[in-house]
Amino acid sequence: MELNSIEAEIKSRKVRKVLLQFPEGLQSFAVKISKALKLATGAEIVISADPCWGGCDLAETAALKLGADLLVHFGHSPWPKKPKVPTMFIEVYSDIEVRDVVLRAIGFLSAKKIGIATTVQHIHKLNEIKTLLEEKGFEVLVGKPSRRAKYAGQILGCDLSSVEKINVDQFLFVGGGTFHPLGIALATGKRVIAADPFSGKITDMSEEAKRALMLRYAQIAKAKNVERFGVVIGLKFGQINLKSARQIKEKIEGKGKEAYLIACEEINPERFAGLVDIEALVITACPRIVIEDGPRFKIPVITPMELDILLGIRKWEGIIGKETFGYK
Ligand code: SF4
Repeated sequence: MELNSIEAEIKSRKVRKVLLQFPEGLQSFAVKISKALKLATGAEIVISADPCWGGCDLAETAALKLGADLLVHFGHSPWPKKPKVPTMFIEVYSDIEVRDVVLRAIGFLSAKKIGIATTVQHIHKLNEIKTLLEEKGFEVLVGKPSRRAKYAGQILGCDLSSVEKINVDQFLFVGGGTFHPLGIALATGKRVIAADPFSGKITDMSEEAKRALMLRYAQIAKAKNVERFGVVIGLKFGQINLKSARQIKEKIEGKGKEAYLIACEEINPERFAGLVDIEALVITACPRIVIEDGPRFKIPVITPMELDILLGIRKWEGIIGKETFGYK
């Protein structure tokens, strides 16, 4: 983590109040960083304890309320939207080794032309991963950066352009958790091997992708006869999509059904428990809510693309998950 640039920014701009924001996995560094910055600059430092899931989740509103003249967001690459408060995105790279897990993952690959991808946390290891595969005789392709993904080979849950645009037989994802590799499997329809350097676990995502698609089919089927939809607008900095929410509402009403715009910062089942008249939700915010949290809701929760399928505007083309992951 590079703190010198933050100190320099505070000093050169004579910043008096700083708001620090961390994803959960980095909050354990918050006090040390706060202390170091206070000592080095004398500025007042406030730590945000709200949840933070991505660069989309910038604490802009909190910074405005607190009158902070600098917001420092740790752990994610910059989001392509200008914040109202001067903001520094401090990328944080994991120093965990990937060599062993990649070498073991190679045993799971059954094709020669491989696409590789990771999150920003391990992006500095991408060349090493590529070389390891090439030394074993694989042809390795890395996708280009995009609007939300700053680096070649980087993916976000809501931006899989890097993998969608390369023509390979299989993918190797290196990073923690299953959400991102599941996204690759759904968006490309290709076999994905996930190598987690934290747990050392190697997972073939094929079964998980099949299960996820069956769940998506089930959610669409459950929402088929719904008369009253909630169209959910996320209120997080990078998730607000009022225009598309309005268009979705019109689409639903055009089919003779009712639709209500609902705005919400934290989108979870508890928030919607009181809205008993709403029978299904269309989420315009973040795909993670639908894919990971969807099953926790009592009512069907679908994406805008899935709504199109449900309304007969779009066909479900095979099993390719772009239809469910169509957030751009
Ligand atoms: S997947 Fe969701 S949480 Fe992650 S960057 Fe995209 S909108 Fe934000």
